[in-house]
Formats: sequence, C-alpha cells, structure tokens
Amino acid sequence: MTSTPLPTVGFIGLGNMGSGMTRNLQAAGLPLVITDIRRESGDALVAGGAVWADTAADVAAASDVVITMLPTPRHVDAALSGPTGLLAGARAGLTWIDMSTSVPEVAERVRAAHPELVVLDAPVSGMSVGAANGTLQIFVGGDAEHVERLRPVFEAMGDPERIIHVGGHGAGYAVKLMINQLWFSHLVATAEVLAIGVKAGVDLDVLRRSLIASPANSTFVERDVLSVLDHGDYDEGFAIALACKDLGLSIDLARSVGVPAELSGLVEQIYRRARAQYGDRAGEMTPMKLYEDLIGQELRLSGADR
Ligand code: NAD
Repeated sequence: MTSTPLPTVGFIGLGNMGSGMTRNLQAAGLPLVITDIRRESGDALVAGGAVWADTAADVAAASDVVITMLPTPRHVDAALSGPTGLLAGARAGLTWIDMSTSVPEVAERVRAAHPELVVLDAPVSGMSVGAANGTLQIFVGGDAEHVERLRPVFEAMGDPERIIHVGGHGAGYAVKLMINQLWFSHLVATAEVLAIGVKAGVDLDVLRRSLIASPANSTFVERDVLSVLDHGDYDEGFAIALACKDLGLSIDLARSVGVPAELSGLVEQIYRRARAQYGDRAGEMTPMKLYEDLIGQELRLSGADR
C-alpha cells in the first residue's frame, strides 16, 4: 500500500507563535521551508533539517502549503505582495493558510485575483505556550474538503479535539476576534472588581473564592487570572501592542457588519492606556497593573493559596 506523501510546508513568521508551531511541524516529520525578516529566528529549525528561503516568493515556489503567522493584516499584505512576495512565487494549486489574527480583506483580495489558489483562514488560541506544546485551538474558515485534506498539518500544531471548521472564508478570523474580545473584556472586568473589593477591605483570596462560588464565576477568574495573582506574570509572550491590534480589528469588524460595540470600545481604550503607560512589549495582561497602580498595591494571593 502506498501512503500519500507529506506536503512540503512553507512557513512565514517565526516569532513567539511561529517558532513553536514550526518546531511541532518539524517534529511531525513535515518537510519545512521557512522565512522571517529576522534570519536568526530560523537557525534551530535549519539545524533540524528545514530549508531557509530568503523571500516569501521562494518559500511559495518550494512548498505545497504556505502558512503565514504575522502580526497584523499590514504585515500579511507585505509578505504577499511585490516581486519577492508569496504571490510572485505561487503556482496553481498552492494552498495559503493565514493563521494570523486578522480580518478577511487581504484574503478576499487574494481569492478574487487568484482563483487558482486554495485559501484558508485558520487563526489560533492557546498562547505561545500552546504553540510550543502543540496544543493550540485552531478555528478554520474555508471549504470543508481542504480543511479535511490539511488536517494532518493542523494536528501537528494543535489539539485534534479543538481544531474546528467554523464556516466559510473569513469565519475563522471572526471567531478568533470574538474570542479575544470577550477574553480581554473578562480581564478588564475582573481587574476592576478585584481592585474595588480589595480596596473595600476584603481579602483577595476570600474575594476570588467567593466569585468562583457565585454565578459571576468564569474561566478567567478561576484559571487565567492566576498568572498575575500567583506569579505577577502579565504574559509577555503576547505583546499588548498585538492585543490592541486585535481589539481594533474586532471593532472594525463590528463596524463593517453594523453592530454597535460600546463595551468593546471601552475595553480597547483601557488596553490602549495600559500600552501607553507600560510600553508596546508589555504583556497582554498589563491592564490589570493599571488597577494595581490605582489602588497602590499588587493583586497577589497569599502564600497559603499557592
Ligand atoms: P511576533 O511579533 O512574536 O512574531 C511575528 C514574526 O513575524 C516576527 O518574527 C517578525 O520578524 C516576522 N515578520 C514580520 N513581518 C514579516 C514579513 N513581511 N516577512 C517575514 N516575516 C515577518 O508575533 P506573534 O506573537 O508570534 O503573533 C503572530 C500572530 O499570532 C499575530 O496575529 C497574533 O495576534 C497572533 N496570536 C498571538 C498569540 C500569542 O500569544 N503571542 C496567541 C494567539 C494568536
């Protein structure tokens, strides 16, 4: 019996997320062709057998599937366009999967101008630790037959149970933006509530346990907030500049479909304040620090709860 040969995967963007994702693709035995504007980001992968390409066009010319994992729609557009861009090297039948958190415009333009290419949007959740461990959640938009065909590629990077085909083109981007919007809203709401409660004299451990035992409980209060409350870790693996980008894209999406997004607008402003105060590279959870600074004390659980 002959088995289907593994596709050669091109990967553009070896940052906090892409570095872990490519390590897992390599570990799964998929041939890799990689690039990034930072040459050194590929050294370990090349040592493991990946081929370095100097341009996105060269990546496309040597691959069956090309994945982009880039910061913003502007970066995705830059990697696709011009004489050295992905599109310049693409041949008919190439699949381009954009796993960046983005909006559909760039992909829509590509699909209109290049019907000979297969295009999927497949943004992820799970933070840089999920990228490193191969446990990402992946939300795929596009045609079902291609989602199924590419399942082995997705499964090399994500949790098989949480690789979800969420609808047609653009649905992956929309689902991802809504997940982030709600998570950032949880963070701001939780930070505000904890700061008020502590300032009102309630012990932080008691306050959090009471919230967990109440109808106000959430995964954020139960699990995610512990990064700050236990370790003072504001997650620098996801820069607040990118969080602000996601919030802006989410509001753009709301505007494009004609739904007012008052709460999202407020959360975005609080995130932008934290970014202005602590810098672009501060972690995505630094809005909690705004509230800590406001009440003049860090929100940390006592040793007994750790
Ligand atoms: P990052 O800034 O760490 O990495 C981006 C990489 O892209 C960098 O290595 C940069 O040099 C490279 N790059 C930029 N422009 C390029 C170009 N034209 N050609 C080639 N390489 C280029 O960003 P990240 O944290 O890895 O995030 C990537 C995407 O994943 C973003 O859309 C982000 O919103 C999303 N995301 C991030 C996380 C997280 O926890 N970090 C989680 C989920 C989703």
